[in-house]
Amino acid sequence: MKIYPQQIICKHCDSLYTRQSVRPGEAAHCPRCRAVLYRGSWLSLEQWFALTLTAALFFIIANVFPVLQIGFHGQSQAATLWQTAMALAHSYASPLAIPVALLIIVCPCLQILLLGWVLFHACRKKTAPGFASAMRLLAGLAPWSMAEVALLSILIAAIKLSGLVEITTGPGTWALLGLCLLLPVINHQDFQPLWTLKTLRGPRE
Ligand SMILES: [Zn+2]
Repeated sequence: MKIYPQQIICKHCDSLYTRQSVRPGEAAHCPRCRAVLYRGSWLSLEQWFALTLTAALFFIIANVFPVLQIGFHGQSQAATLWQTAMALAHSYASPLAIPVALLIIVCPCLQILLLGWVLFHACRKKTAPGFASAMRLLAGLAPWSMAEVALLSILIAAIKLSGLVEITTGPGTWALLGLCLLLPVINHQDFQPLWTLKTLRGPRE
């Protein structure tokens, strides 16, 4: 597969451009439709990888420790992120259980794993095995990762139920908050340096 990392296509009007370097925080715009083509990254590959590892840690904590604990008449029930998704399977909204689990757990998990895999090798100046497939999957997953929807749902439920039962946040809540803040950062970096690295290292697939 021939790769042209210096070429970029505007997603809005399909115009083709040659990339120019931009400073961190600055954006390159499509001259034709003014859409943002790409932004200069503040992060080095090592910093990007470190944030991805932190997101992985947050993801594990949100799935091991309770994101919400409900107390009522001396009894309490705690649920992790995974358990909140599975609780749907036993409710009247059971058809939603699988899509919800995909959107708030499986997709973010895959994103973190794939990005971690690619960046781990990139930090060592190597191309990850299955690089192109991983990058294509990452691009496909981007619109379907909705961990923030889980956080929003949990916050709304906590506010609505706070007058009726005792609501306690757990370590998972803060981990989920951290995950929701980190996922957009690690997923919206400029991927061009990774493709450039692949072309420099030569095709492996
Ligand atoms: Zn355009």
